[in-house]
Amino acid sequence: MNSAFAEVALPLPIDHPFTYGIPPRLGVPLRVGHRVKVPFRARELSGFVVDFPKHPPPMEIRDIKSIAEPEPLLDEKLLELGRWVADTWLCSWGQALDAMVPAGVKRATVRRTIAVARAAATPPGAAPKTEAQRRIFDALVRAGEPVVVSSLLDRVKATSGPLTSLVKAGYVEIARQVPDTDAMDLDVDPGAQDLALTPDQEQALRTIRAAVGAAPRGVLLHGVTGSGKTEVYLRAIADVVAAGRQAIVLVPEIALTPQTVARFRARFPRLAVLHSVLAESDRARAWRSIRAGEIDVVVGARSAVFAPVRSLGLIVLDEEHEHAYKQEGDPRYHARDVAVRRAEREGAAAILGSATPSLETVHAARTGRLRLARLPRRIEERPLPPVEIVDMAEERRDTKRYPILSRALEQALKKAVARGEQVLLFLNRRGYTTITRCKRCEWVFRCKRCEITVTFHKAEGIAECHTCGATQKLPDVCPACRVGELWHFGVGTEKIEEEVRRRLPELSVARMDSDRMRTRKDYREALGGLWSGDTDVLIGTQMIAKGLDVPNVTVIGVVNADTAFYLPDFRASERTFHLLTQVSGRAGRGPKGGKVVVQTFNPRHFAIACAASYDEEQFFEKELAARRELGFPPYSRLVRIVFQGAPEKAVIATAESWSQKLGEALPPMLVSKLGPGKAPFYKVRNRYRMQILLKAQDLDPVRKTLKPMMEKFKSTRKLQVIVDVDPVSMV
Ligand code: ADP
Ligand code: ZN
Ligand code: ZN
Repeated sequence: MNSAFAEVALPLPIDHPFTYGIPPRLGVPLRVGHRVKVPFRARELSGFVVDFPKHPPPMEIRDIKSIAEPEPLLDEKLLELGRWVADTWLCSWGQALDAMVPAGVKRATVRRTIAVARAAATPPGAAPKTEAQRRIFDALVRAGEPVVVSSLLDRVKATSGPLTSLVKAGYVEIARQVPDTDAMDLDVDPGAQDLALTPDQEQALRTIRAAVGAAPRGVLLHGVTGSGKTEVYLRAIADVVAAGRQAIVLVPEIALTPQTVARFRARFPRLAVLHSVLAESDRARAWRSIRAGEIDVVVGARSAVFAPVRSLGLIVLDEEHEHAYKQEGDPRYHARDVAVRRAEREGAAAILGSATPSLETVHAARTGRLRLARLPRRIEERPLPPVEIVDMAEERRDTKRYPILSRALEQALKKAVARGEQVLLFLNRRGYTTITRCKRCEWVFRCKRCEITVTFHKAEGIAECHTCGATQKLPDVCPACRVGELWHFGVGTEKIEEEVRRRLPELSVARMDSDRMRTRKDYREALGGLWSGDTDVLIGTQMIAKGLDVPNVTVIGVVNADTAFYLPDFRASERTFHLLTQVSGRAGRGPKGGKVVVQTFNPRHFAIACAASYDEEQFFEKELAARRELGFPPYSRLVRIVFQGAPEKAVIATAESWSQKLGEALPPMLVSKLGPGKAPFYKVRNRYRMQILLKAQDLDPVRKTLKPMMEKFKSTRKLQVIVDVDPVSMV
């Protein structure tokens, strides 16, 4: 380029590149994609060269300071992808590009050690103070070994603040380690041979090959767990590698284990892992060898979708419905959409694999935007366990009490235990009861900082806010009317445990939730009891919904299938369906078969009925019809704008002024605006939260309006505005 000027995209929330002069002393001819250091106000910043303007800018400009390394870090294709990410999720080009390159590549001196956290050997007796702290602590206790801080925080969706508090309070210890470069390697050979494919797998592979050849480039590979999806991925990858191209395999952070990596490495030795458990230096090395063309297959979490392979042939996104693919923080991109877009632009294919695909993906396949491949059967054709639905309203009428365990569930449980088998009882709520109310005046006990009902923990004799973690003593009588007796209802795991012990005192009962699981020993004992057969009944929260695979478990009780319905989230039915499908997968893993009992007050709700009959097609049909009726995704696109801070007046005023501007700028025919209104959790830790929801077929006008508003508004500690395009979290 002969221009004397370069445009540099900087990682600032201002979406235009800045023009700088190119001094002769840079050494190498400057190209787009080069990383450069530039003066910016009183600071220095690094960014990427994105263009060379023909004409000098009308004002005086400063020169580029230096060039990070002789080769450009990003090629034109990745620059263009970054532009698209910025346009789609409303961040600046510079912010998007910055997120595409690992820190270790960008930094001059990279860290060769990595911060790890582990649970203290003797933590304080009481539970950690806040929900976030508890999530972090639980994850560490469960891991039982040091966990890399970055991957820990990503996994539990927490920031470093609560971790720091845990360290101060003596729950957690932090150390720096030289990471084991082979941490993601496993010596075992998990079967390197190609298997003879089943006819379904053959058909799926043909569909994928067609996508490698021509649009549409995306394929939904829909198949139950154990149906042989991974085998299909491996074959499709072998195809593109044989053609001299590369593949990227994305898995949710939690699924990225040495076993996963080993299965791919056994077939593809030229494999690189991009993962936060690696030190910056190792990640940087992996990234550079990918860019140098030394790698055939990249395995990684979300951000590996930007891996700088030279000739992309295939992207596999396993468990495509997982919310971990959406980044909750700028840029708020969704790796699934990036994968499909990248495949389209680079003449590659993208496989979205899942046993329970998201409605967005199902709809795209139905309307022909994605190809569809199905693996309807498990490889070993073990039947799925029958599901019995119990109508709890009827149960209440018949038994004249407020039942926790229905007669059907109690019977199934007793019979299983009598046969020497085991039972899991699942409920997504810890604590004893979730609502405390005055019998006389209807006063409800709420957290002062969050205005949310507090959960009663009977063993500790306290009421706890599950949003902020604050605890209070429970009053003896109603503090409002000073005479009324308090009434506790809304069942939690602690109450179920009490109920099972009371009704069936001869059984051996264990509970697995974050109140009970304080140390690694607690986990070992709970799981050990299940494996050895000592435990008859294990009661637990989501901790037991995924992954537990004990052949002697033959009965699963879902104590309350309705919990997702209480949250104002248009994906409530989808969540319920996914959860029941996953939970059902825990039963009947062994030759004895199994049975699932689902308790609900909504027995005719289609999400529950369809999960019980394993009728996915009907679920999709009904859920899509409901979404169409209400104009929710996939029939529209959403933008969620959250205003949070204090004082309350300032938050409301900001939300109202944004709302007014949006209302003036956006024609109601094209964009429907809901709000401003209170966010589902309106007050959290004395900070108030307002939200506006925008719904449109086409988000372009919304983006055009929002972008300058976002650039003009300066978030402060007191008040922040968060704009989330295509949100996955609605609370
Ligand atoms: P998924 O990824 O859908 O859970 P996998 O690919 O892991 O399924 O397959 C489940 C099991 O079946 C694995 O043990 C795998 O080795 C085996 N398997 C897959 N395909 C075949 C096949 N065509 N013939 C025999 N075994 C197979
Ligand atoms: Zn009262
Ligand atoms: Zn609270």
